[in-house]
Amino acid sequence: NRRFVLASRPEGEASAQNFRLETVETPALSDGQVLVRHHYLSLDPYMRGRMNEGKSYAAPQPLGEVMIGGTVGEVVESRHPRFAAGDKVQGMGGWQEWSVVDANQPGMLRKVDDSRVPLSHYLGAVGMPGVTGWYGLNRIIEPKPGKTVTVSAASGAVGSAVGVLAKARGCRAVGIAGGAEKCRYVVEELGFDACIDYREHPDLGSLSKALKQACPDGIDGHFENVGGMILDAVMLRSSAFARVALCGMIAGYDGQPIPLRHPQLILTNRMRVEGFIVSEHLDVWPEALAELGELVGSGRFRPRETVASGIEAAPEAFLGLLRGRNFGKQLVKLA
Ligand code: NDP
Repeated sequence: NRRFVLASRPEGEASAQNFRLETVETPALSDGQVLVRHHYLSLDPYMRGRMNEGKSYAAPQPLGEVMIGGTVGEVVESRHPRFAAGDKVQGMGGWQEWSVVDANQPGMLRKVDDSRVPLSHYLGAVGMPGVTGWYGLNRIIEPKPGKTVTVSAASGAVGSAVGVLAKARGCRAVGIAGGAEKCRYVVEELGFDACIDYREHPDLGSLSKALKQACPDGIDGHFENVGGMILDAVMLRSSAFARVALCGMIAGYDGQPIPLRHPQLILTNRMRVEGFIVSEHLDVWPEALAELGELVGSGRFRPRETVASGIEAAPEAFLGLLRGRNFGKQLVKLA
């Protein structure tokens, strides 16, 4: 079994040197345990936060231990009555090729059906990122038909789900993404009404003007994944009583300053800005996964993926995700 452990904590930007590849034996199974061969590893922005020491909503990743990460794969051997060899499963197997899972612990391993939804999508659109989009949109923005909803990192795992769901609720959906190719996908394949390439608008004035054009009636709901200038520009175009689901601020994950330039707009626009962590809202997961599974299974939502090959590719693929080099859900294919 090859695996990556966290070797050191980054100072500023994360680098490949922060990870170490190890080869270890897979231990023999005890009662209640299941051996899983991972097919895909999910790479997610939250992993950057776990690499830091210090207080956050979750404990830091311990040094020398397998990097945390969501996985999907196949049961190869089972000493648990609910799982059998050949079952397709989703769990938190980490950055490694195999895992031994204590299946008695609640929530450790979930069987999934890959007959209508490809296995890898259980790490993206029909998994944690999809539910994240669902929660922020439905429980914080509370979209109404005819209203305008914007989302940053719109072509990504979370952002794509937000847009597809907003369209299903009858909203005008406007994305913000990096590059013409991502914007084309957001409009043509995901069905957003418009998408703004922020790289073409490197200053706040220009970005806010582009938003005004794409959102002539103002912005009623915004789903924030990036922070910094994008959030400033959206706030300048917000309608009265606009709601903002503060999901992520990836522009600041390597320690870059991301000040809010016009905080007074929260007051003058009577905005409601709410942060959330999807793992603290387990009650919505079944409903959200059912809707997302239906959208993907029926072909109405075609999520995009960037797939790196082999466990050794994980660190570079992860660093690429933090720099916007991924296009859609970032995965590593392992088997
Ligand atoms: P994505 O698939 O959207 O990939 C990240 C994208 O962010 C990149 O493709 C890039 O898109 C953009 N990006 C990366 N670096 C920067 C930067 N420096 N400045 C601007 N944009 C950047 O990732 P996810 O969909 O998995 O996650 C999206 C957000 O949601 C993240 O902020 C993540 O932390 C957050 N999140 C929060 C959760 C919660 O519970 N609150 C749960 C899951 C995710 P582009 O090229 O378009 O700029």
